[in-house]
Amino acid sequence: MKESGICPKCKGQDIVKIPGKVKDYGSGNNIQVGMTVLSAVPVHRYVCCSCGFTEEWVDLKDVPKIKKHYR
Ligand SMILES: [Zn+2]
Repeated sequence: MKESGICPKCKGQDIVKIPGKVKDYGSGNNIQVGMTVLSAVPVHRYVCCSCGFTEEWVDLKDVPKIKKHYR
């Protein structure tokens, strides 16, 4: 969906991207990878406006932080 812009469930093409945010106290859509706000990874969401399916992605550059923290 991120690459194609097409919903895998209903083939709809009306896709909206909601950028992930890291705000005060860890609010916003993100994954916490440490004790401070600086160590949260934003999660971007893609929503299909035709059927409501959502998909979530993190930036590849942030993947090592998640691996380090969760395993
Ligand atoms: Zn859809």
